[in-house]
Amino acid sequence: MNIAVIGSGYVGLVTGVCLAELGHSCVGIDNDKEKIARLKDGIVPIYEPGLEELVSVNLSKKRLSFTDNIKDGIEEAEVVFICVGTPPLKSGAVNLVYVEKVAREIAECLTTYKVIVDKSTVPVETGDRVERTIKLYNINKVSFDVVSNPEFLREGSAISDFMKPDRIVIGLASERAEKVMKRLYQPLNANILVTDIRSAELIKHASNSFLATKISFANALAEICDSAGADVLKVVEGMGLDPRIGKDFLKPGIGYGGSCFPKDVAGFIYIAKGYGYDFKLLKAVREINENQKKRFISKVKESLWVLNEKQIGVLGLSFKPDTDDLRNAPSLDIIKQLVNEGAKIKAYDPKAMEKAKKVLKGVVYTETPYEAARGSDILLILTEWDEIQNMDLKKIKSLLKNPIIIDGRNIFPPEEMKSLGFVYKGVGR
Ligand code: NAD
Repeated sequence: MNIAVIGSGYVGLVTGVCLAELGHSCVGIDNDKEKIARLKDGIVPIYEPGLEELVSVNLSKKRLSFTDNIKDGIEEAEVVFICVGTPPLKSGAVNLVYVEKVAREIAECLTTYKVIVDKSTVPVETGDRVERTIKLYNINKVSFDVVSNPEFLREGSAISDFMKPDRIVIGLASERAEKVMKRLYQPLNANILVTDIRSAELIKHASNSFLATKISFANALAEICDSAGADVLKVVEGMGLDPRIGKDFLKPGIGYGGSCFPKDVAGFIYIAKGYGYDFKLLKAVREINENQKKRFISKVKESLWVLNEKQIGVLGLSFKPDTDDLRNAPSLDIIKQLVNEGAKIKAYDPKAMEKAKKVLKGVVYTETPYEAARGSDILLILTEWDEIQNMDLKKIKSLLKNPIIIDGRNIFPPEEMKSLGFVYKGVGR
């Protein structure tokens, strides 16, 4: 099938490349001309495992191409995906200007029937608004259908998430669109849930908010465990063995970050308010999450008392491993706070340092985790990269000024760290 994907960021690029890999003919579209010029040469602007190889293979097989022109890009397409950003506004509301703009642009160049699929995370009822907008600007009065197909991929495992999804949710209102969407995804042989458009839109906000709730629940437990002298990892293990609960996402740490959870929780609180519902549960989820960063910093202060002039080694910057994405990474707030209090930061991350240099000034970036530890008064672990989990801890200890590690991700066993001579503090254990 001929497919166009508008927005070549994390979601759009992975969608286009994976659909090309499944045998469809895909055009990736973006209004960032520089990004498109680089993509045409096979240069991928983000780090996502396996993505660059797939781009290169599908470019050479001519199943994938890129353009910065929506009219050219969608001309042949039977399905047009909208994958542009939906960033949060200060109020928590979802900023839909990019979605609206793309809907208008699609409408103005419609020449044949197309299924227009919203993959961006949007508030319920956006599909209705997209449909109205397209009708308004559809000068040629061409028929079309609007579909909601929220994306559930995770950065760091985006390709396998796309290729082996738990479920594909398709919200639609026409049999014609249903046939097209089922044909599109047929090669994946996946579990497809067909719903109305509004329910599909809600599934995405509800899913992300629920996952964030699990994380905040684990973080609340961690606070109790810290005081009670229990091990939160044992507690969540014991809970997770119950299949009704499940172990995934019951993970205490320095809080969730990234481009989705903070935005989607805030968005859902705002959306609910619009329907007259005060989502107190999610407000608490958000508050617990914010608190995790403060609690982490207070642990650093408990160890060093005054932060002014202290050298602090930081390991891990991205909001989670296997991505270079720094959007809403807890590391950003934590480092800014430490710098505000006069600390000198030496930081290391396997993939996110180039992006960090643009947003975190006054930080010394090192080539290895060992360089970040060298001469530091304390070492902080903020992202659980494999490379950090596999460090030579004896070497780390020999390089630190004080053998203190505050681990925001609970990656090491406390007893082992103690026997190696570290003062080691995790989260809730
Ligand atoms: P992104 O910022 O990485 O990419 C968005 C792209 O859209 C950018 O390249 C931007 O230049 C392009 N764009 C904006 N306006 C445009 C226009 N008028 N014409 C053409 N291109 C335009 O965003 P993302 O992380 O890929 O997220 C996209 C959507 O998917 C969001 O709604 C997000 O919430 C959702 N989502 C993201 C993830 C994730 O892990 N990143 C997962 C699931 C869903």
